[in-house]
Amino acid sequence: MKVLIAGGAGFIGSNLAKRLIHDGHQVVVLDSLIRGNKLDQETLENITLFEGDVRDEALVIEAAKGCDLIYHFAAVLGVDIVAENPVETMEVEVYGTKNIVAAAYANNISKIIYASTSGIYSSTEIVDDVLTEELLVDPHTSYAMAKRYNELYLKSHFDERGLNSVSLRFFNVYGHNQDNRMVVPRFFEQCLENEPVTVYGDGKQTRDFTYIDDTVEACIRLIDLKGWHIVNIANEAEWCIADLAKEIKAVTQSDSEIIHVENEHEKNGYEVERRIGSSKKLVELTGFKPMITLQQGLEKIYEKNYKNQTSTPC
Ligand code: UDP
Repeated sequence: MKVLIAGGAGFIGSNLAKRLIHDGHQVVVLDSLIRGNKLDQETLENITLFEGDVRDEALVIEAAKGCDLIYHFAAVLGVDIVAENPVETMEVEVYGTKNIVAAAYANNISKIIYASTSGIYSSTEIVDDVLTEELLVDPHTSYAMAKRYNELYLKSHFDERGLNSVSLRFFNVYGHNQDNRMVVPRFFEQCLENEPVTVYGDGKQTRDFTYIDDTVEACIRLIDLKGWHIVNIANEAEWCIADLAKEIKAVTQSDSEIIHVENEHEKNGYEVERRIGSSKKLVELTGFKPMITLQQGLEKIYEKNYKNQTSTPC
């Protein structure tokens, strides 16, 4: 297949590009590269790269030429960046997805796989221990609202014109080569530089961490699915942030002190008390369940990124 990944130079997109190439697919990446480029040299040599903005409709249509499938992962990401740029965030989501849909029609592409977010659940009450896709959601932030809008926008295109799509509600994806906008790489960096590990608030807030390899596997398994779907990509394990800090400190054998600092995100609506996702629907649809535990994932990051660096305090 020929596959377009919009946002393919980001953390998840670049890992997906590698896997698709490995599986024998032809890969096209469209990315503005504004907030970095995670494509390594080997991957760059094996893809066609369109450098530009997903808000540019003509460019998106051009990039999708001859493709069979589009992964739409282009987004403004990271709580701090999103909170500071609500208009850009909304524009990239809404205009970007409109353009991806236009590109699908212009190129006879019948399927879009879209990066939604578990952030959509915001403070939705957790029933039966996990968040399921059927729950009535109540997104609080502009980011989560835009993602929810796009899930429904894609539904309207399936209902009206039969365009297949899957919206993936990612639960705190983490792994090697992620940048420190997210909590896992940030705690790694702090531990390895012997700086205080900054747990926000009391650290009792929880997340469900999904390792990148499991995430990519789920993205691949959903390629052939027809219809309109929303699917959690979750590990079904609930970890509080204070314990995450302890785990990363242990893995890195760091002497860093764990400190509690004021939680800025409580004020801007981005903090969520609890998050744990059900992977039942993913299993039903694909037979695949994310299996890599947080401890295993943290060990893998340490092995891949840091173990042989002599400049670190470890
Ligand atoms: N967090 C923290 N210290 C940090 C960065 C994040 O305690 O230096 C917490 C944050 O308050 C949140 C969790 O880690 O509860 C996950 O944050 P992240 O920004 O990675 O993802 P999201 O909030 O979107 O789940």
